[in-house]
Amino acid sequence: PFDVLVVGGGPAGAAAAIYAARKGIRTGVVTERFGGQVLDTMGIENFISVQHTEGPRLVAQLEQHVKDYDVDVMNLQKAVSLKPANGDGLATIELESGASLRAKTVILSTGARWRQIGVPGEDEYRNKGVAYCPHCDGPLYKGKRTAVIGGGNSGVEAAIDLAGIVAHVTLIEFDSELRADAVLQTKLRSLPNVTVITSALTTEVTGDGEKVTGLVYRDRKTDEVHTLALEGIFVQIGLVPNTEWLGGALAMTNRGEIEIDSHLATSVPGVFAAGDVTTVPYKQIVIAMGEGSKAALSAFDYLIRH
Ligand code: FAD
Repeated sequence: PFDVLVVGGGPAGAAAAIYAARKGIRTGVVTERFGGQVLDTMGIENFISVQHTEGPRLVAQLEQHVKDYDVDVMNLQKAVSLKPANGDGLATIELESGASLRAKTVILSTGARWRQIGVPGEDEYRNKGVAYCPHCDGPLYKGKRTAVIGGGNSGVEAAIDLAGIVAHVTLIEFDSELRADAVLQTKLRSLPNVTVITSALTTEVTGDGEKVTGLVYRDRKTDEVHTLALEGIFVQIGLVPNTEWLGGALAMTNRGEIEIDSHLATSVPGVFAAGDVTTVPYKQIVIAMGEGSKAALSAFDYLIRH
C-alpha cells in the first residue's frame, strides 16, 4: 500500500506528491489528466517569481519536478470511489478501470471546473476573449470593453474588480434582479463605468475568427435581441468542485466543496484535501501549491502518530 496516495494531479496534487516523496515515504499520484486546469491556461503572470509562463510549459515543469522523486504517477486514471479505512487502517480508492489502490493516507486534490454558459462561440474563443478568472486575466483587458456574465457574488465582485482596470464593464444577469449581497450591489452601482442589464439571456459569443468582438443577448421581458460590441467576456456563473465521485464519503458544503480544517484534514481520519476542490478561499495556482504542500506535511504528521 501507499503511505500517501494523492488523487488529482493539478498544481495542488503535484505539490503534495513532491512534499510527501521528500519524506522518503511511498507516494503515488492517480489522476485523470496530469496538469489539471493549468493545461487549459495560456498566459500566467501571477505565479510569483515567474513573470510570465504558459500553462503547458508550467505543467511540463511540474511533471519533471515530480519525476525527480520516487513517485508512482498513474496518469489517465479516474477515481470513482473512496472507501475510508476500517480495521486495517487502509483507505481504498477504486478506479474506473476496475483496479483499486490502498493507502494509509489519502490527499484529495481533484480540483474544480468553471461552469460554462454553453452558447456558440464560448469554446471557440476561450482564452481569446472568453475568460473565467478576473484575478488571472483582468489586466489583459486594460482600457478595453468587457462584460461579466452572472450577477451573483462572484459576478458582481468580478465587475467591481474589472471596473478599476478596464474601460467599461457590462454586467449581464439572467434573472430580473442581481443575487449578490446588498453591499456589493451598492458598490457596483456607485461605479461610473459599469452598466447592469438584468433579464438577459446570453445566446452567442461573436468573434472575427481570431478573437471576441461581442456578445448577443435576448431581453427576456421583450424578446428583443441585442448585440454588445466588446473585447472581453468574463463568465462568472459558478466554479464546480470535482467531488461527484466521492458521494457522501466525507463532509462537504452544499456547493460540493470538501470541508477542511486548518491542517487540511477532512471529516475522515487520514484523508486530507487541498486546492480548488476544498473550501479554501481564492482558487489560484500559488494557493493550490501551498495547500498541496500543507496537506502532505499533515499526512506525514498523521503517519508518524499512527
Ligand atoms: P486542478 O488544476 O483542477 O487539478 C485537478 C486534477 O484532478 C486534474 O489533474 C484532474 O484531471 C484530476 N481529477 C479530477 N477528478 C478526478 C478523478 N475523479 N479521479 C482522478 N483525477 C481527477 N490560476 C492562477 O493562479 N493564475 C492564472 O493565470 C490562472 N488562469 C486560469 C485560466 C483558466 C482558463 C482556468 C480554468 C484556471 C486558471 N487559474 C489560474 C486557476 C488555476 O488553474 C487553479 O486554481 C488551479 O489549477 C487549481 O489547482 P488544483 O490542483 O486544486 O486543481
